Amino acid sequence: MTILKHKIFLLFLIFPILLTAAESSAATSQTVKPKLILQITVDQLRGDMPEKYMENMGEGGFRYLKKQGIWYANAHYGHANTETVVGHTSLATGADPSVHGMVANVWFDRDTGKLAYNIEDPRYHILSSGADVDKSTEIDASQALAGTDGRSPANIMVTTFSDELAMRSQGKAKIIGVSVKDRGAVTLAGHAGKAFWFSKSAGEFITSSYYYDKYPDWVMAWNKTGKPRAYGNKAWELLKDKDTYKYGNTDSESGEMDMAGFGRTFPHQYGDATGKYFTNYLTFSPAGDELTLDFARAAIVGEQLGQDEITDYLAISFSSTDYVGHLFGASSLEAEDNMLRLDRTLAKLFAYIDKHIGLENTLIVLSADHGGPETPAHLQSFGIEAGFVIPHEWDKEPSIARLKQHFGIGKELIKSFFPPYLYLDHGVIKDKGLDLAEVEQAVANELMSIKGVALAVSSTALRNNKLPDSFLNRAALRNYNRKRSGDIMVLFDPQYTINDFMGEKLAATHGSPWRYDTYVPVIFAGGKIKGQRINRRVEPIDIATTLAAFMNTRPPSGSTGNVLLEVVNQ
Ligand SMILES: [Zn+2]
Repeated sequence: MTILKHKIFLLFLIFPILLTAAESSAATSQTVKPKLILQITVDQLRGDMPEKYMENMGEGGFRYLKKQGIWYANAHYGHANTETVVGHTSLATGADPSVHGMVANVWFDRDTGKLAYNIEDPRYHILSSGADVDKSTEIDASQALAGTDGRSPANIMVTTFSDELAMRSQGKAKIIGVSVKDRGAVTLAGHAGKAFWFSKSAGEFITSSYYYDKYPDWVMAWNKTGKPRAYGNKAWELLKDKDTYKYGNTDSESGEMDMAGFGRTFPHQYGDATGKYFTNYLTFSPAGDELTLDFARAAIVGEQLGQDEITDYLAISFSSTDYVGHLFGASSLEAEDNMLRLDRTLAKLFAYIDKHIGLENTLIVLSADHGGPETPAHLQSFGIEAGFVIPHEWDKEPSIARLKQHFGIGKELIKSFFPPYLYLDHGVIKDKGLDLAEVEQAVANELMSIKGVALAVSSTALRNNKLPDSFLNRAALRNYNRKRSGDIMVLFDPQYTINDFMGEKLAATHGSPWRYDTYVPVIFAGGKIKGQRINRRVEPIDIATTLAAFMNTRPPSGSTGNVLLEVVNQ
């Protein structure tokens, strides 16, 4: 009896020990959660750019990601309109624009009869006075179209990964989005997080009343430092000797832009801090990213990110690469120096995270909202046909004029063309007793005959899904949202872009379904991740799905991405 009792007692002792061992072994492979998820988006970072310029990069930035990270080298977006808010929202939600609803930077709102800026929300004003977009100096063409200073994530129709993280932690996870661009911060912060972006008119990082009633102390303190003004009377100069650069001998190529007097060659002078375009110049150069980094560091300390057992989330979107690409092209001395500077900015960020949180406690993911094209001049120098499609007054095109005559329409039929969508005047069509689908199809057919147009597809055709399963039709369908998309989507031939910017020509414009615009890096690093390169085709929408699987949250409500097994099976 005594012996048996003893044995039973021993079993009781041993069983809990065995269970604990089993639980902890599962924990090391699956459930050790990072203290921080750091989601970095580099605006217009085409998939080949980091390695193209890596030779001259230092340690700790892209080289760290390459050595220590899982580098997906063949990631492409599947939607047609590769613009900033579309890509950022896809990264945040794991969904296509057809589902998340952010189908373009700007769309035509049939209820108000006006163009709508993606994250505009007149209910939630900016907290600072005098920080609204200054239309006389704003160089961000889509932001300049906003009718009010209000901003919120309300137009995003589904949940983001960060929303799911917030709900999973009963609101305890701290969620912050930071960017020079409002749409770069608001999208990733989701509905439940806090977003901060840079006001060019105020020279400060700002937010709206959606997020706060008043600024947190650390934001007030950062804005008082006057760090942006410290760039006054300085210049963007080359980081290294000019003769060490790939493009050292080609600083002033055909097609490069002298935007608002920032110049086409180094050094690019910022001028006096009170200058009309001073804060714009900061965003056209690596200074914009340096300021974003500095503000993000203040957020890490101010919000005590990654300091307890609840996983926090910090999204940083670096905007400078986008402006540099638009002004000078992806193969320019400016782009090359910007990449070296971005590499230094990333190295400083990773070193800061390592010191305050530990890279072993952090899951890093880096991607881009879209890629970008080469300039037509650069492509032509290699014998590749390329050019700009001059924005047409489509309504006055001879073929459209004939069509209007055929339908007996004497008024303007095309109400608005804001790429990639064309909007017809439904009132005119109704008054004439015409069938919308028939007019849409007829206009689309005529547009297809115009030089430079690769596809004009009507929304009715997309909705009825009676189109051939072609690459372009699929991309158009993945972009099509019944509430937001226009009547006809117009896509241009490869290497051809619409390129009118307030009457001036940019060096290059993204937004196409072609591979230079859909191609982005997808890189995971930190924690227990070991370096490997994956050439399998993946999509940036896989990121949010993978983060959800990694953190064991619900998948975001519209997510259709796949789980990247290399990341979750460590
Ligand atoms: Zn962008």
